[in-house]
This record gives sequence, C-alpha cells and structure tokens, in this order.
Amino acid sequence: MDQQEAVNTLTDVMTKFTGYIGKRLPTDVQKKLAELREKETTPLAKVVYDSMATNQEAADKLDRPCCQDTGAIQYFITCGAKFPYIGELEGILRNAVLEATKKAPLRHNAVETFIEKNTGTNTGYRIPWMDWDIVPDSDTCEIEVYMAGGGCSLPGAAKVLMPGQGYEGVNQFVFDVITSYGVNACPPLLVGVGVSTSVETAARLSKKALFREVGSRNANENAAKMEQLLEEGLNEVGIGPQGLGGASSVMGVNIEQSARHPSTIGVAVSTGCWAHRRGTIRFNPDLSYEIISHKGAVL
Ligand code: SF4
Repeated sequence: MDQQEAVNTLTDVMTKFTGYIGKRLPTDVQKKLAELREKETTPLAKVVYDSMATNQEAADKLDRPCCQDTGAIQYFITCGAKFPYIGELEGILRNAVLEATKKAPLRHNAVETFIEKNTGTNTGYRIPWMDWDIVPDSDTCEIEVYMAGGGCSLPGAAKVLMPGQGYEGVNQFVFDVITSYGVNACPPLLVGVGVSTSVETAARLSKKALFREVGSRNANENAAKMEQLLEEGLNEVGIGPQGLGGASSVMGVNIEQSARHPSTIGVAVSTGCWAHRRGTIRFNPDLSYEIISHKGAVL
C-alpha cells in the first residue's frame, strides 16, 4: 500500500468509526445500564431506563445518533513512535471529522471562541481536540474517540486543594460537584476523577479516567477503595436516571492519579452521561485494526 492509499484507508476507517461512536454505546456502558435498570424499584426510574434502551435500539435500526448532541469531537491518541503514519494522523483525524459530520451525520458543534460563529463543519481552531501520548518502542496506534457533549461536559471542575485537606478534601470536592451539577449531565453518570499536582494535570487525568472500562478498578488498592466508597456514597444520594430519583446516581467512579507535589492536591472531575459516547480502536502498522470498546462492531 503506498502512502496516499494508506492515508485514504485510515481516513475512511476513522470517518466510519467516529460516526459509529455517535450511534452505538460501548459494550461496558450498555451492560451497566441494563444492570442499573434491574436494581430500580420505582416505575418512573424503570420507564426512564426503558426509554434509554428503546432509544438505543432505534438509533441502531435507523442508523442515527443516539443523542442529538454529538458533542465536540476529541481524540486521545496513544501512538507508537514507529507507527508509520504518525506524521499524517493529525490531518487524517481532521478530515475524518469533516467527513463524519456529513455522512453520520453529526450535529455542528464547533463555535469559534471570540468570533462566536459556528463553523458548520465540527472543525475549527484546535478542534477536533487532539491529546497525544507517544510510546517510544511501539509501532501500533490506539485512538480514543470521545464526543464531548454540552450536558456531560458542564459539571467538569478542577481545583488545587491545600495539602491539609487530604483525601477527605478530594471526597468533598467530588461530592460537591456531582450533587450540585451532576444532574445537568443526564445521569446515571460515569465520574472521572483526576488527582495530581495542578489543575491541568488533574483535569487531563479526570478525562482519561472516563476511558477506563466501567466497573474496572484502579490498580492502586487505596485508590480502588476510594472509587468504591465514592460510588457507594453517590449512589446513596439517589439522583436516579435523568435526575428523576432512583436507586443509583452513577455507573461508576474511575480515578486516575499521578505522583504530586507534597504541598498540593490537584483534583478534577469530568463526567460522562448515560449516552457515554467513547470508542477505542487500535491500528497495526499494516492498518489492520481492532475495535476494543464495542464487541462485534462492524464498520
Ligand atoms: S448529557 Fe449526554 S445524553 Fe444528555 S443531552 Fe448531553 S450528550 Fe445527550
């Protein structure tokens, strides 16, 4: 395959995958929503979960996005330094968004800041947003596609705590954010928490936490315990599906952390809504690929 052919192939796959993410939820999210529905005892909560399931079936059958807000597109790229198309990827992903916007279709969600004009293409200055991790000795490339909707992005918050506030401070921050603003994000929520030195490192980690599988646990025992306690505590609040009350508030709490400066505790929260549109695809150097997030997906 020559270079141009390869670029065309990658653009085509990423166009289809980006559109696909807007229509079908990842396997873990679908499973969790079904599980939470089973725990509900009130008719209203059950009806809301049923309507989510019906919505999913309709999106699949009609080949349409499962929520009207298909978000601002964000790509989180973990790319091997030896992946042969690393230099072309930025252009490829930009073109994939342009194409997916027309073909999927995706709602126009890119407004140029300070100009206040919708570009009508879902592309613009620094959008689609691209976040890079380069892996030195690898020749594969893993791409997370995320549709950052308005509602699910609204509760996002970050703060640097005084060191004496400790993990209790982290806990309080997460509770304050979710109980004040969580309802804007169409619960049940996936709550991503980042703990690090400063606001930007904590914020990036909180978004990355949203890409970890629902139901998975942090490898650090204490962090895993905190995930569990936060999840149980937030569920006791009983926000329920779409904030209408019910047995649960969240699909889960995922924490990602880094070592940090001893004098600070940077903490951030990002939220994913019930329609948590994210997808993971991994390319090999010959451009064969595997879709990791959606079992049995065919593009
Ligand atoms: S929060 Fe999620 S489900 Fe609700 S409108 Fe926004 S994108 Fe759609």
